[in-house]
This record gives sequence, structure tokens and C-alpha cells, in this order.
Amino acid sequence: MELRPGLSALITGGASGIGRALSLALARKGIFVTVVDFSEERGKEVASLNEKENAKFHSDLKFPSALFIRCDVTNTRDVAAAFEKHVQTYGGLDICINSAGIASSVVFYNDKTDGEGSWRRAVRVNLIAVIDCTRLAIQTMQTAGKPGVIINIGSASGLYPMYGDPIYSATKGGVVLFTRSLYPYRRQGIRINVLCPEFVDTELSAKVDPKFIQSSGGFIPMEMVVDGAFELIKDESKAGKCLWITERRGMEYWPTPMEERKYLVTSSQAKQRFSYTTKSSLEIPHTFRKIVVHTLSHNFRNATEIVHTQLSLPIKPHHVVVKIIYAGVNASDVNFSSGRYFSGGSKDIASRLPFDAGFEAVGLIAAVGDLVNDLRIGTPVAIMTFGSYAEFTMVHKKHILPVARPDPEVVAMLTSGLTASIALEKAALMDSGKVVLVTAAAGGTGQFAVQLAKLAGNKVVATCGGEQKAALLKALGVDRVIDYRKEDVKSVLKKEFPKGVDIIYESVGGEMFDLCLNALAVYGRLIVIGMISQYQGEHGWQPSNYTGLCEKILAKSQTVAGFFLVQYSHLWKEHLDRLFDLYSSGKLKVSLDPRKFSGISSVADAVEYLHSGRSQGKVVVCIDPTFDQQPSKL
Ligand code: NAP
Repeated sequence: MELRPGLSALITGGASGIGRALSLALARKGIFVTVVDFSEERGKEVASLNEKENAKFHSDLKFPSALFIRCDVTNTRDVAAAFEKHVQTYGGLDICINSAGIASSVVFYNDKTDGEGSWRRAVRVNLIAVIDCTRLAIQTMQTAGKPGVIINIGSASGLYPMYGDPIYSATKGGVVLFTRSLYPYRRQGIRINVLCPEFVDTELSAKVDPKFIQSSGGFIPMEMVVDGAFELIKDESKAGKCLWITERRGMEYWPTPMEERKYLVTSSQAKQRFSYTTKSSLEIPHTFRKIVVHTLSHNFRNATEIVHTQLSLPIKPHHVVVKIIYAGVNASDVNFSSGRYFSGGSKDIASRLPFDAGFEAVGLIAAVGDLVNDLRIGTPVAIMTFGSYAEFTMVHKKHILPVARPDPEVVAMLTSGLTASIALEKAALMDSGKVVLVTAAAGGTGQFAVQLAKLAGNKVVATCGGEQKAALLKALGVDRVIDYRKEDVKSVLKKEFPKGVDIIYESVGGEMFDLCLNALAVYGRLIVIGMISQYQGEHGWQPSNYTGLCEKILAKSQTVAGFFLVQYSHLWKEHLDRLFDLYSSGKLKVSLDPRKFSGISSVADAVEYLHSGRSQGKVVVCIDPTFDQQPSKL
């Protein structure tokens, strides 16, 4: 989740210590923060500071940009009311940080009471209230139907014993395992993390023997805690993780994958799900095959050949070897084989020959370099690196996108799904209540665009060529399907959408682009996704000449924007997780073309098939046909 102005956060214990620092840090990003705290004076002070920070981002708001709600977190009714007030004010909840915590008021060893006034209260504040607030935050996020992040503030004393305050240690240990057990909520788009700092210079630490603090490395700066929380919010891959922060070791995720492996037991069902990770399937043969471009040409078959190659050993320290199972076929494979994606003159581009083809694949990690300790052999992964039309490939670990299963549906979510998801959000600035037109809508990326536009609450119009494709689009929820083989797209748009179309996701080009531009509404946004009709002209792709384009868009305050996925790699992980969660929860369907392409030798056939105009949904090639037999499904 990007930390951007307009998000909202609720922070318990937000009036002091870590909660206060996080409140201010979030407000500095333009985020609306509700501070929930027992202390009125401090709470109001933080809220007013938050308001000042927020004023740099927002003006003329019809609601307060920061809230303080006085509340004892152990009182369920009051806490529920605080969440309600937050939602009434900000319309949802993106971030919840549970930071309220206390030390035991009487040292356990000296406590001769029944604990009502001492350790029982610590358990209620530090553990029961955290469970309660997490529960309320989950419910709030589920109701809003938007992704959210919950961070519970644990403590290093929840990871190992703290002899001075066993109750504190027990409650924080409870918070750690409670939070880590909530990992499955990730599938609903709700990420719940626990952050375990060692000593931070706050009032809470003032009760701890300074010698003990010194012996464990001294105080950690508050900025480290803020950085840690921001990392958990931003990085979708950290769902369910426990982040340990110390002065001695910096930021470290707990437990390490190696430790985790010692105690993780897979159920028989899980074993079945992961049964494909057999040892033999991950052996790296002496030589393997890959597709290389040897001649620059839009004709993929003529441009490429299959070569036998060897892995260059040793594996580079930060690299992993991926055994590829499914590779995705894209319209732009023919642009890549013509060298169009490289910059420079024709001589520079030609000097790159031969180069590896293919953009995207899923598979399993077959080997890891010496310095890779967070990825295991057998892990299912996705990659979006050049050279994916290969049986094996070596890539830097930073390019690895861990996925639940190496299934063809996941391949479809890569270039095709991500293009739709990111382009509609970032280039089309899509919201709801608009008319959205998608061209080549039954294709690889079009199928995602129509569904995402529909899920966002828009009226969706889609073009395609053929009855079966029209039926698919209807099944995906498209409001008006225009089969251009039966109906004239221009007349339909003119007659049925006289005010024009607000957003156009255009990937056909040529005449279709002209027609779409003429159908664009005032303030409309036309996103140029591609121009498949132009890619394979007799003399290759010729640049188009759009006389009068400026005049047209000026007259109606319209925008024509380009979108190229490679420039948005910083958002891939986040959007892939979103697509995956929508898919897992049944809100998004992934349509694969029914035609089977098996083995690396079928790649050229698959590329030509996509360009024949007959394909429907995503075209994939099963690079290792032995995996096609797997009874998979996410
Ligand atoms: P696709 O949509 O699966 O491509 C196949 C469909 O395109 C066909 O079913 C056909 O649909 C249409 N088509 C094929 N050849 C055509 C032709 N000569 N003239 C007109 N229509 C033709 O392919 P894709 O890989 O998902 O790519 C779709 C578009 O998105 C391409 O323009 C591609 O370059 C672009 N793209 C862009 C990005 C980016 O970052 N900008 C990323 C991915 C894809 P109908 O006949 O049913 O219309």
C-alpha cells in the first residue's frame, strides 16, 4: 500500500511514545489519523499537530483532518464506537495500529494481590484489547471491501523472556503469535503484522533498569520504528510477518525462514497441494533449451530459434535459478523480436543479437545463490524478466515475485492483469459511475480491464470479434458487448452513448483508435495500451499520423495518455497481490485460451495464434508438459 494523502489510520495509544511518533509520521504523509487514547490532554495535542501536518495536503475539507477520541481500550463498547466514528468521518479504514500498552504496575514477584489492580490490567490492555481492536479493524476493513493493514505493536520481550516483567513479556508473546496466526486474512486483502522493537526511549522504558537497556545495546531510535512500520504498510509481501528491530542487528524478520522450516508441519492437504516440488523435478540438467532472437523481425518465427544452452555456473550470489513451467504469450512478443523495445539506432539494437525472448513466466526455484537466504528451493514464483521462453533461467532475487502456485492463471495476471490494474488506476485515474470502453476486450489484458472497471462500479462497454468472445464478455459482467463482426462500433457508440465515453482502454490502434477518440466524452481519458492491428504490417509497424489530435483534445478537455507496464515495476508486487486476492475470493475470473501449447517448440505457434485474432482470454505455453498433469488450482 502506497502511503498517500487521503488514506486514513486509527492508532490506539496514539497520544504518546511509539503511537504518537507513528501518528505524526502518517499525518506528515497527508493521512487522516484518529488518535485513540486514555490521556485527553496529550491526545488533543497530537491531534492538533496532526491537523497542522495535514493542512499541507488538504484544504476546504468538510470533515476534520485529524481526530482524537478519548477511550480506554479495555472497554469494548467505547473502542467499537471509536472505530465507528472513524469510519463515519473518513468513509473507511486503511491502516490500524494498535500501540496502547503498559508495563505491570507491580513487579509480579512482589505482587501479593489477586492481580486485579496490576497484572490482570496489563493482560487486558496489552493482549485482550489488541485482540479486540484487531477484530474490530478486520470487520471494518471487510465491510469497506478495501485492502487494509493492521500493525500490532509487540515487543522484543514477546520474542524472548524479560525477567524483570514476566507479565509484559507474556502479553507481548501472545500478541506476536496471535498476529502471526492471522496470516490467512491476506487472502481478503487484509495484512496483519506485528512490530517488535527492543527498547525505545519512551515513558514505558523509563520503568526498566537502565543497565539492562545498556547491556542489550541501548535505545533504538524512534525513526527505525517508523521506518519498520512504513515497510510493513508498503510491502505487500510482508503479510503476517513479525519485524524485530534492535540496535544490534537492525531490522530482521522473525523467525528466519530456516528457523521456520524446523517447526512448520504441512497438513496432508497442504502436502498434496505442494506435491509438485519433488526433488527430481528441480534437478537442473546439464543443458536446457531457450528461445533466442537471432534476426530482428516482426515475424516471430523467422526472428527466433531454439538453442541448447548451459547454465553459467556458479550461480551468482544474489541470483536464483527458476525452472519455468508456464510462460505467457503477449501481443508485443513480435515487437520485442523486432528490437522495438531497445533504445538506440538500428546498429546498436542489432549489436544486441542474439538476445533471449519471452516476458513472463511462473515456475519453481530450482537453485539459489550463496547470499540468498529468504527464498527456498521449490518455492513457486513468477518472473517478468526478458528470457522467459526458456526451460530454466537465472535471475536476480529482486525480480522474484513469490506466488501461491505456478499456475497458468497466475501467468495471466502478470503482464496482462498488471497492465489493466495499474493502467486503470494510474493512467485512467478510474473511479466509479463512469462509462468505460475496452477494446480487444476478450483478449489477455482486455478481460482484466472489463472486470476491474465493473468491480469499481462503472458501466462497461467492450468490443470484440466473434460470438464466443461476446458470450465470454457477457459472462464477465460487461454491460454492452459490441461484436464488431455483427455491429458497427461507431454507430452503436453514437446512438447509445451520445454524451461519449469517459474512459477508453484502447489496445487495437489504427481505425479503432480514431473511432475511440471521436467517441470520447468531455474530460474523457483515452489510454493507449497498444496498437495490435499495426504490429504486423507488411513493412513492420509504421508510426501513425494523427492530424488534428491536439485540436480535438483541446476542444473537449480530453486526455490521451500512454501506458507502458515496464515503467511501473515498483507497483507490480502490490497489484499482483490485489489481483490474486480478487481471484482467490472469486471476484475476478481468469480466462485462459482453451488451445494447448506444449513445450518450448510450440511458442512460435502460440505467438502466431494470438495474432490470428482467434484467441480468447490469455494464451499460455506449458514449457514443462509434465506439470500440465498436476491437479492444481489456487
Ligand atoms: P490479446 O488481447 O490477447 O490479443 C489478441 C486479441 O487482439 C484478438 O483476440 C483480437 O481481438 C485482437 N487482435 C489480434 N490481432 C488483431 C489485429 N491484427 N487487428 C485488430 N485486432 C486484433 O493480446 P494482449 O497480449 O493482451 O495485448 C493486447 C494489447 O495490449 C496489445 O496492443 C498489446 O501491445 C497491449 N499491451 C500493452 C501493454 C503495455 O504495457 N502498454 C502490456 C500488455 C499488453 P478482437 O478481434 O476480439 O478485438
